Amino acid sequence: MLNSGLFWEYWAEKKDCGSCPLRQKCLNETDKAGARKLQDSYFKTAVQQHFFRQWESEYREALKQRQIWCEGTFAAQKWGHNLTRLLRRGLEAAEDHCLLSAAALNVKRMIRCLN
Ligand code: SF4
Repeated sequence: MLNSGLFWEYWAEKKDCGSCPLRQKCLNETDKAGARKLQDSYFKTAVQQHFFRQWESEYREALKQRQIWCEGTFAAQKWGHNLTRLLRRGLEAAEDHCLLSAAALNVKRMIRCLN
């Protein structure tokens, strides 16, 4: 069993599946190791909710807004503020870098609005 806290994987024993009468029905193409593997995620419920809402007009509009505002901001930070790679190590350093980048982006936008 693999457990990252957010993602879990369970494997059946290969020897159990090898002699199981349900093997043909149970195993699929992705179970190449010869034993059943199940995956679960902390985010599974949220992912399913989004999947079922993907054709709602409200959802499509929110997605469009995200593409304009969020994705554009991420792209600008990536190429303009060197967020492709971080120079310092550690989560705190990464958070500092991201916050400074966001602050710089906001200052640039405020200056652009003033002009
Ligand atoms: S996981 Fe499927 S194939 Fe493997 S022992 Fe259980 S029922 Fe049989």
